[in-house]
Amino acid sequence: MVEEKVKSIIDSLSHSASDNFIDTICLSLAKAIKADIVFIAKLNPERTIATTLSLATEDVISDNFSYHLKATPCQNVSQGQICCHADNAQALYPDDQLLFDMGVIGYVGVPLKNNIDETNAILVALYLKPIENEVEVTSLFMLFSGMIIKEMEKQELIEALYTRNKIIEESSEAIIVCDKHYKITSVNKAYTRLTGYSFKEVQGESPNIFSPGSHDKRFFKQMWKDITKSGSWSGEVWNKKKNGQFFPEHLSINTIYDENNNIAHYVGFFFDISKKKKAEQEIYRQARFDILTGVVNRSFFMEKLSLAVRSFKQNEQSALLFMDLDLFKEVNDVHGHSFGDELLIKVSNRLQSLTKSTDIVARISGDGFAILLNNFVNDEIINTIITRIFSSFNECFVINGISIRCTLSMGVVFFEEGKDDVSTLIKKAEYAMCHAKDNGRNSFSYFTQDMQNKVYRQFVLKKALSEALSNESLTVVYQPIVSLAEEKVSKFEALVRWQNDGVWVSPEEFIPIAEKFSLIKKLGEFVLAEACRQLIELKRQGYINIQFNVNRSVYEIPLNRSENDQWLMVIKEHRLEPSDICFELTESALAPDKRNNERLFSQLTAAGCSIALDDFGTGYSSLSYLRRIPVDYIKIDKSFIRDMSQNAEENVLVSTIIAMSKSLGKKTVAEGVETKEQLQLLTELGCDFIQGYYFSKPLPCEDVVSYLANFKYSAQ
Ligand code: C2E
Ligand code: CA
Ligand code: CA
Repeated sequence: MVEEKVKSIIDSLSHSASDNFIDTICLSLAKAIKADIVFIAKLNPERTIATTLSLATEDVISDNFSYHLKATPCQNVSQGQICCHADNAQALYPDDQLLFDMGVIGYVGVPLKNNIDETNAILVALYLKPIENEVEVTSLFMLFSGMIIKEMEKQELIEALYTRNKIIEESSEAIIVCDKHYKITSVNKAYTRLTGYSFKEVQGESPNIFSPGSHDKRFFKQMWKDITKSGSWSGEVWNKKKNGQFFPEHLSINTIYDENNNIAHYVGFFFDISKKKKAEQEIYRQARFDILTGVVNRSFFMEKLSLAVRSFKQNEQSALLFMDLDLFKEVNDVHGHSFGDELLIKVSNRLQSLTKSTDIVARISGDGFAILLNNFVNDEIINTIITRIFSSFNECFVINGISIRCTLSMGVVFFEEGKDDVSTLIKKAEYAMCHAKDNGRNSFSYFTQDMQNKVYRQFVLKKALSEALSNESLTVVYQPIVSLAEEKVSKFEALVRWQNDGVWVSPEEFIPIAEKFSLIKKLGEFVLAEACRQLIELKRQGYINIQFNVNRSVYEIPLNRSENDQWLMVIKEHRLEPSDICFELTESALAPDKRNNERLFSQLTAAGCSIALDDFGTGYSSLSYLRRIPVDYIKIDKSFIRDMSQNAEENVLVSTIIAMSKSLGKKTVAEGVETKEQLQLLTELGCDFIQGYYFSKPLPCEDVVSYLANFKYSAQ
């Protein structure tokens, strides 16, 4: 009887059209044991709730449900007992409402235990009438429980595998599996997406991620050494796509071993790190290179320089070049900042094109550049490069159709082994550069110790001068200028004086410093205001026709037309007429490309001021400047007066200047006249005014009135 039932169950299992074993066995068990309900239920880990996996009546599968185990016969089963109640189930479990509701009378339940003897499911038969042969039912249940357990485990395994497979397949990381011979046995979707290769295309091939083209053999040797030793490896490598494109990836390789600890597979995980690499490169670039020009920036240059200093060897030559664009501020002011930026880019490109790739060109400040010339066999080569740079900068830069000549001032310092650290080298290069600038720009200087002293003094004076200007502790002295026609003092030249810590500093020294460190405007304004105050005082005392000459530097000429009125304003504020003041300017101030000089001078002369051209003959006088700019006086430089000879015919230079001035309708002033002979010669040559120690040294303001009162012209 039992055998028949077993056979019928096995038959139905093997002929079942459904691939759900659990349903089939529940159905066939229900049929064989004539139970009203047979179900298999899974227990939760706490074994408090059971959830049916399959619920069969004689020939139908019903919907699954969950129920609480407490106070039910199933609770005993869940604890590992076999329960069999042929006809008194309700009486034994009075609190089991479900049993009561369903009208259950007979109950058989067996635990389904896993291989470690834990009950995680139960097999139950319910009868709505007393069970006829409960021993047979129980035996059948026990007989099939093993099979059910195995099947359930298989299902679970399949499910787990399916989930794992799904995870691998859907992973955003590319995954590639190889057998122990490095042949590809599977890849996931991300692999195909990333590399462009389908599984079919790579199946059985050896993967290039394990040996991509852009690394050397040593790299892979090390990689495989690590894998063999520790079973895994990870790092960044370059891989190649189907379309030939290389890309960086982060790759991890793991070895999978079989139960005998033999290598079964290698699994590679990788993802594209192009974006990360790009971001890293950008950060690297921004930290080390100048954003505007693309050349090395200051901090990276310092790193490179200290490296070069440390590794410098005596039998080589290395040099540090410091450069500053001449008058770059003016280019910016006149043409605008984007023009200035464009110029900086072009300058960087030009400097780079003139040096080797192993040399380092850097932008170290607004318009400051540095070059590290590395490891040359001799200093001749360095000299050649410097000459090359200067001749190349003779060529104009063309920006927005505007052609502009931009020159450099350069300081050069050679490395000396073990002598200088980086900051000393830089200081020396800066001293040399300042020296080059002082030498009239567009030139270079090699560092010397004298230079260092000079530059040091300049810095000290600059600081002191700036303080003196703030405290108004400068003074002005006045040197008479005598009219030969009238034989009387008609003008005074205002000359600034500075006593620093009780020591007089010559204007020849501090005026260039004021010009260089942008103090000249303040200084000029002070002298003009001081001269105006003095002149108004003279006028009050009756000297109404005296004119004051005030020196102004080319760096004081406003860049902006709107500031042109400032000089006149000071004069007016002191209730003087513009005709009371003559501005002395040197030839450089008349050059056509100097700020808005032409307009300024026209404005000044139109208002009534006079203009004197100072130190005539020392600069690059161009007669055309004289025609363009309305100059009233030409001041012959004292060096020509000093060199004048007793023989009138030999004084060609001075006589030519005087003749030329006359022909242009300008008056001449001879400066530095110290002797009677000079005075006589100049009188003979037709000079108009005389200034010099012969008549007087510059006078402090309090002596001016008495000088005028006592003045007597004397040429004897
Ligand atoms: P400069 O404008 O050519 O001034 C004339 C210089 O010659 C003055 O020198 C004056 O003292 C000097 N000197 C006058 N007569 C004689 C003489 O008979 N023999 C000799 N050997 N020298 C004589 P100082 O005052 O030392 O000024 C030097 C230069 O400094 C000036 O030359 C001028 O270029 C500049 N400077 C002076 N004061 C000012 C100022 O207020 N503003 C500006 N921008 N420059 C000034
Ligand atoms: Ca002067
Ligand atoms: Ca002069």
